[in-house]
Amino acid sequence: MITSDRKQSQTSHRFKAFEELKNSPDVPLLPLPNLQVFLEDSAARRNITHDPTFNTILTQIKLVLYHLIASEGAFTDIRYIIEKIIQNVEAAKAALGRRLGSNREFVRQDLCNFLQRDTPAIIFKSTVLQSWNWGFVNKGEEVGAAENELFLSMDLMQALQNPATQDLLNISQDLLDQQKLRLSVLWKITFMHELMHATTKYFLSPEVITPNIPGLEGDGEGHGEAGWSLENWYLGYKLEAIWMKEDVEKPH
Ligand SMILES: [Zn+2]
Repeated sequence: MITSDRKQSQTSHRFKAFEELKNSPDVPLLPLPNLQVFLEDSAARRNITHDPTFNTILTQIKLVLYHLIASEGAFTDIRYIIEKIIQNVEAAKAALGRRLGSNREFVRQDLCNFLQRDTPAIIFKSTVLQSWNWGFVNKGEEVGAAENELFLSMDLMQALQNPATQDLLNISQDLLDQQKLRLSVLWKITFMHELMHATTKYFLSPEVITPNIPGLEGDGEGHGEAGWSLENWYLGYKLEAIWMKEDVEKPH
């Protein structure tokens, strides 16, 4: 049975991502000719793709994309998620056939082409007073759903781009370094999670971003979670944001 096979292989997949990173430090520095990164507020979208002020975050974006392009392990898990969905959703299978231009299987080159050539636009937007936390990809029914883009928290990005100083936080340098590392891991996993949603949207149509499928992770409220499935299998755990609303609200 696929489910029990999956459960068995989960143990050996645990920490696979870290092993891969440790053992293959030479992630190829591929060109990302169509990468577009924006800051968005209520007034406009500003293109920061080549703005050196944002080098920290631009480097992180490229690192995650290079990693997913280079990682056999990540591809194996992404393919598993895609296969699981097309086994259960006829419309997704048809959409994949249209995207690939034939009835063949989804292969690693397809994922690489998407990430490297048809890279989703990355838009940083403020999370304060929004109903989403760290990131999202528009679903089919929403305006602009056909767009190949994903949204990430501007606040999380700015914390990474302009980290708080030791003086401000009144903590040791050691603790500050640990905090920065945690933030950077959190950000990378968030981006990877949203790239999973962008991948299913691109290959399986905007209506089938993350359906509720037996064997895939769910959000506990009846919705599927392809992003958490990838986190759980590829990294060995999944992240969840739990915070007090009043902690993140602007003062009135
Ligand atoms: Zn998700």
